[in-house]
This record gives sequence, structure tokens and C-alpha cells, in this order.
Amino acid sequence: MTTEVHWTDSLRAQMAGPVLAPSDPAYEDARRVHNGLIDRRPALVARCHGTADVQAAVRFARERGLEIAVRGGGHNVAGNAVCDGGLMIDLSAMRGVHVDPRARRARAQGGATWGNYNRETQLYGLASTGGVVSTTGVGGLTLGGGLGWLMGKHGMAVDCLRAVELVTASGEVVRASADEHSDLFWAVRGGGGNFGVATWLEYELYPVGPMVLGGLVAHPFTAARDVLRFYRDFTQSLPDDLTAFAGLLHAPDGSGAQIAAIMVCHAGSLEAGAAAVAPVKRFGSPVMDVIGPMPYSAVNMLFDAGFPRGALNYWKSSFLATLADGAIDTMIERFAAAPSPMSGLLLEHFHGAATRVGPTDTAFPHRTVAHNFLAVAEWLEASATQANVAWARDTYAALAPHFASGRYANYLNAEEVTQSGAVSDAFGPNWKRLREVKERIDPDNVFHLNQNIKP
Ligand SMILES: Cc1cc2nc3c(=O)[nH]c(=O)nc-3n(C[C@H](O)[C@H](O)[C@H](O)COP(=O)(O)OP(=O)(O)OC[C@H]3O[C@@H](n4cnc5c(N)ncnc54)[C@H](O)[C@@H]3O)c2cc1C
Repeated sequence: MTTEVHWTDSLRAQMAGPVLAPSDPAYEDARRVHNGLIDRRPALVARCHGTADVQAAVRFARERGLEIAVRGGGHNVAGNAVCDGGLMIDLSAMRGVHVDPRARRARAQGGATWGNYNRETQLYGLASTGGVVSTTGVGGLTLGGGLGWLMGKHGMAVDCLRAVELVTASGEVVRASADEHSDLFWAVRGGGGNFGVATWLEYELYPVGPMVLGGLVAHPFTAARDVLRFYRDFTQSLPDDLTAFAGLLHAPDGSGAQIAAIMVCHAGSLEAGAAAVAPVKRFGSPVMDVIGPMPYSAVNMLFDAGFPRGALNYWKSSFLATLADGAIDTMIERFAAAPSPMSGLLLEHFHGAATRVGPTDTAFPHRTVAHNFLAVAEWLEASATQANVAWARDTYAALAPHFASGRYANYLNAEEVTQSGAVSDAFGPNWKRLREVKERIDPDNVFHLNQNIKP
């Protein structure tokens, strides 16, 4: 009997969910993550059905010295959800979301996506801050901070988190909240997957919609300078209800036309939303204006089609010190040279509730009113990889004089997650305390395929 067959049988005997070996027909799809640039082959994929399966998988891997990768929604651009050799703990079958509308709490399993979450919570007109697109995983996004449409009003995803059930490196099942293992609860609110596998995440829910004012306006690329300057001024005095992002993008009609867009979501009443976004709708001569009343879950899906699973991705991102004229001009110059009609440059505005939490109150430290800059290089042909990676790197380098020191951990790419400078920029003043918690909870660094905090 080969070791592979022996291992597979042994883990299968301990799990309710399937265990996939390279010879299984389902293995090929299971090992693939969102980013088509990631091509890794784990020895086994443990497709867990619940906390007991996760515990069995962690113990199994530890007993045999196998490297562990944890897959939530599979969106991490760095590809941390999958390893070469080793055991991929795949939570994609754990997508349950249970809503208690009276207590205004939702419990989501670690493999749920924001689409799964909104589908259940919006039944009751409730929501928590989640990702901008619906296909991103609740697990990875939340543990790294979690920016999204509701962050002006309800803070980051971590600010909505009330408890988490974790399987730790020793295989123990632990609940962390403000009252139980509070240090660990502090660390998982921004420290990523460093502390264990989150099998359940419990969130506070807030009334949102179901109808909200949201959407985007698109201007011709020739107006980009005026649009981004207008966006900068507009975001200086936003109500908490309104979150606004801007982007230099390609038209979604496949024409390859370059556009300058402003995207909004207003979490309050439709009337207040209409008043708040009126300046955006009045400004300039847009080629498209699709800002209007729509279900919150639809706002969450507006950009899904722009991020198809399997497309090749290379991202680079940093917070900006200010959105200076020079930064705007550089963005325009660099975007004009984008080699792929799927790529874009984004500005994500942090304000309101997300910035009223102290930088050390949770492990997520970026609590200043600011714009986060994100270069998304996305393409389809492997032959274009070099040109697209070079474009993202050169764009990032050209913008560097305008950067603040902070980086968003969830956007670090495959090289950056192993660079101590990038990781410490991502955790800022919380780096030392995070290392102390890591030392206690996972001294052997079992969970290291992440924005790694080395004990
Ligand atoms: C198209 C796209 C859109 C995005 N939009 C946003 C956005 O709007 N806002 C935002 O903040 N970020 C966004 N991101 C970044 C996103 O937050 C990160 O990529 C995040 O890691 C995705 O989480 P995931 O569970 O989908 O990913 P995965 O690749 O499954 O997980 C990434 C890592 O997170 C950890 N992890 C995941 N789930 C668990 C779990 N249950 N328990 C323990 N560890 C876990 C593991 O270390 C894993 O390696 C986006 C990414 C993409 C590709």
C-alpha cells in the first residue's frame, strides 16, 4: 500500500466530508483557487463538513508533520489557501449561515462567502460589513480586517465580529470573544489566519436596506483628472452612511474602453441616500450613471463579473498619505499603459466608524481617514504574465512617493506575505502583541501560510 493510499484511508476514516487525493476526479477543481496564477498540488484535500472534521484534519496533519493550508473563500491573491504537498483544509463545503434576527446576530461557517451571508441576513433586512464583491470568503476577509460598502457606518468586518470558534494548532476547539480568550479575540480581529482555523464566525447585524442607494457613474477616461479631483474633494465630508470608492477601469462591455468611475453605497434611507449622492450624479458628463435604488445584495454583486474565478491576478496596494494631484496624475499615466483590458487602479476610502476605533483596539491598525490605493493586474493568457506583473510593480513604484507606511494585510501578494517589512507594515503598532499571542497559541507556527507572524 502506498503512503498516499494509506494516509487517504486513514484520514477518510476520521472525517464526515470527503478526502481528495490527486487520483480523485474532484481533486483538480478542489486544488484551484480564485487566482489562476496559483498552481499548487497538495498531497491531500480535506473537504471538511464541520468543526469535528477540521479538528481531525489538523490533528492528522500535525501527527504526520504535513504542512497545512486553510481555504475559506479561496480569494487570497497570494494563494495562501493551497500548498504544495501537505494538507489543504478546505472549508468550501462549510457555508452555513444562521441568523437570529431578534438578537441581531449571524453565525457563518468559515467557508461561507459574503453572497451566502447576505442572502440569509437580507431576508430580515439586516447586514454586517462584508466585502465589496459577493464571491470573497467571510473567513479570510474578516480575519484580515475586512473593508467593504458598510465600513463608514458599521466599521470594518472585524468591528462587527463578536465571537469566533477556532480549531487551534493543538487541535483544541476554542471560542474567543470579548469575555473568553479575549487576547486571542483581539488577535483574530486583523491578525489573519495565524491563530487557527475559524469554523464559525459570529457577527453583530444592523438594519440595512434591503433597498439602498448604490451603483456607479462612469466618465470618459479623458475626464479622469477632474473626476479623481472631484472624488477627493467629495470624500472629505461624507456622512457615515455613504462609502465611496473610485477607480480607473475598463468598461465592462468588453470594448476595452478606459473609464474613470465613482462607486457608492449608502446604508441609510433612500431619500437620504439620494441627497448624499446628488453631487456625484450632477458632476461632469458621465457616459453611464447606474446609481439608484437597488437591493444591498445587488450592490454587493455589481463587480462580481469583473473578477472571474481562474483569471490570473497580481495585486499591489498601499495606503496613500494624501490623494495629491501628483498621485492622481501618476495613476492616470500608469493606467493608460495597462496591458490588460481587465486591470484597474482603485481608491478605497476609509472614514466614519472604521476610523473611530483605536489602532490598537483590534489587531487591524489602519484607523486613519485615508485612501487605500490598489493596483489590480488581471489577465487571461499565461503568455501575458510578465507584462502584467511588471505593469503592477512599476505602477506601485511610481506611486510610492505618495504612500503612507500602512499596508492592508489581505492585499499582500505572494512575495510580500513572506517579507517581514511588508507584514510588519500591515500590522503596524500591533506587531509585537500579535507575536506574543502567536507564541502562546501556535508556537510551532503550524499556521504559517498567511501574512505570517513568526513566533
Ligand atoms: C475579487 C476580490 C475581491 C476582494 N475584495 C475585497 C474587499 O472588498 N474587501 C477586503 O477587505 N478584501 C477584499 N479582497 C481581499 C480578501 O480579503 C483576501 O483575499 C482574503 O484573504 C480572502 O479571504 P478568502 O477566505 O476568500 O480567501 P482564502 O484564500 O480562502 O483564504 C486566505 C487566507 O485566509 C485565511 N483563512 C481563510 N478562511 C479562514 C478560516 N475560516 N479560518 C482561518 N483562516 C482562514 C487562511 O490563512 C487563508 O490562507 C478581495 C479579493 C479578491 C480576489
